[in-house]
Amino acid sequence: MNQGTLYVIATPIGNRADMGERAISVLKQVDLIAAEDTRHSKNLMQHYNIATPMQAYHEHNEEQATPKLIQRLLAGENIALISDAGTPLLSDPGYRLVKAAHEAALKVSPIPGACAAIAALSVSGLATDRFMFAGFPPHKQGARQNFYREFENQSVTLVFYESSHRIVASVNDMLQIFGENRRVVLAREITKLFETVHSTELGDLLEWLQADSNQQKGEFVLVVEGAEQQINPQSAELGMVLKVLLEELPVKQASQMAAKITGQKKNQVYKLALELTGK
Ligand code: SAM
Repeated sequence: MNQGTLYVIATPIGNRADMGERAISVLKQVDLIAAEDTRHSKNLMQHYNIATPMQAYHEHNEEQATPKLIQRLLAGENIALISDAGTPLLSDPGYRLVKAAHEAALKVSPIPGACAAIAALSVSGLATDRFMFAGFPPHKQGARQNFYREFENQSVTLVFYESSHRIVASVNDMLQIFGENRRVVLAREITKLFETVHSTELGDLLEWLQADSNQQKGEFVLVVEGAEQQINPQSAELGMVLKVLLEELPVKQASQMAAKITGQKKNQVYKLALELTGK
C-alpha cells in the first residue's frame, strides 16, 4: 500500500485572506489535520468549509501523538500539520513530527504561506542577504540579557519574536546590549487592522514605544541590524584557520578558503597569509 504524505501547511498570521488556494484544497483532501489548537483553528476551517477531522498536536502531547501519526501515515493516510498562525515549526510545534516522518522515510511536503519573521524581514529595509532567525528571547531579564549578548557581535540581520507582555523590557535590554546606534524595525500586528512597521534606531525605539501604550499591544517582530563587521586580520579564529589551510594549500587558495570560512575580506586575509608565510 502507498504511504501517506505529511503536509506542513502555513496559515494566515492575521488576515484570513492570506490563506492560499492550495492550502485550502489540501486541507480538504487530507484524512486528518494535526492542529496546535483545534478550537483556535476551527474558525478558520469553518470559514473555508474545511470539514476534515482535527486532532490536537502541541508541545504537551507531541511525544505520545507523534508515533501514532507516523503509524497512520505509514498505513497510507495523508495528514496536514498546522499551527495557530503562520508556518508550523517556526517557534511553533511540529519539529518532532517532521523529524520522525523523515526517519520513517515518509514524504513531507510544504504548503508555504505566511510567516511573521519573513514578512517583517521583507519590509525591514535591512540587509536580507544573510539573516538569523532567533525566535523568542527568554522571559526573565537575566536570561534575556545573556541571550541578546550571544548575538552582540553577529554581523547578519537578526530577527526576534516578542510578546506584548515583554516588548518594553525586551527593547530596553536590546538597547543596553546592542547600543543605541543600531537600526531596528518593529513590525507589529502584520496583516491586521493596526499593522505598524516602524524603522528607527535602538536609541529611539524605547522612547517611541513608551510614548504610546497602543504601540505596546499585539504581536511583534523585531528586526535588528547586524553588528558592524570588525575587520581584524589578527583575530584568533582567522589566524588558526589560515595556519591550518596554509599547511595544505598554496597561499591564494588558503586565503580564499579562510576568507569564506571566517567572513573576513579576501585582500586582508591574503595579506595576513603572506605575512605568515614570510613572502
Ligand atoms: N509560526 C509563526 C510564524 O510563522 O510566524 C509564529 C508563531 S509564534 C508562537 C507567535 C509569534 O510570532 C508572536 O508572538 C509574534 O512575535 C510573531 N507574530 C505572529 N503573528 C504576527 C503578526 N501578525 N505580526 C507580528 N508578529 C507576529
